[in-house]
Amino acid sequence: MRPTVLCFSGLDPSGGAGLQADIEAIGLSGAHAAIACTALTIQNSQNVFSFDATSKDLLLAQANAVIDDLPINTVKSGMLGTTDNIAALAQFLDQHNDLKYVLDPVLVANSGGCLGDLPTLVEAFKVLIPRATVITPNTVELRALTSCEDLTDATQRIFELGAQAVLVKGGHEKLPADVIINRLYVAGELIYESEMPRIDGEFHGSGCSLASFIAGRLALNDSLEKAVELAEKWLHRALERADSPHVDGQKMPRRFT
Ligand code: PLP
Repeated sequence: MRPTVLCFSGLDPSGGAGLQADIEAIGLSGAHAAIACTALTIQNSQNVFSFDATSKDLLLAQANAVIDDLPINTVKSGMLGTTDNIAALAQFLDQHNDLKYVLDPVLVANSGGCLGDLPTLVEAFKVLIPRATVITPNTVELRALTSCEDLTDATQRIFELGAQAVLVKGGHEKLPADVIINRLYVAGELIYESEMPRIDGEFHGSGCSLASFIAGRLALNDSLEKAVELAEKWLHRALERADSPHVDGQKMPRRFT
């Protein structure tokens, strides 16, 4: 069987983000996706209305049912929703400390909707940071996690919090206006930088898709740098061809080519 990524992520009924993004991205990366569902959200391409988080016990029961059953070598987390779920994931990773782990520190939906209580999530994420093979924050998330406005300070701070590697995604920065610059740091050192033409519009599920594709490629034993490069190229194409479900809504990455 294909190497498997176990995703801790929430259901987005619009299909743009969350566990559907994870399943599609990981499948397209060549790996298999298994899911421990963290929350059922109520949202569409425009708004997040509310969510119900899975209980800690139910979340762990899902993960435990598949961990010895499938060839899982990588974990990816997206929306965790509650501090209980963050603690449950930390416990799971402690029990399986040979797993690679991609931490997408989801705090707020791209539409601006709330996916948990922000200050509590920021504090709770600190237990997961040292455990991650790579963390994939956008600059809004990086600033929130570190309480540093300046990006150089924020990057230094996340390594002080125990990070091993961080992919800082530049899509939320206003400048440069025509390109997006992503930077991959390992042990505090910049090891890879990419520059992609900026595609007009707001996207729903772009972060989930990128992190999951990276997780899929790590599961298939690519190096981190190679996994990031392949994921960026694939996502760029999915965003170029994105669907627009509603005139006021965000675009949805077209993950299948
Ligand atoms: N996970 C879930 C369940 C979501 O609903 C969202 C956003 O709506 C996200 C993750 C993060 O999405 P994005 O990739 O747009 O940051």
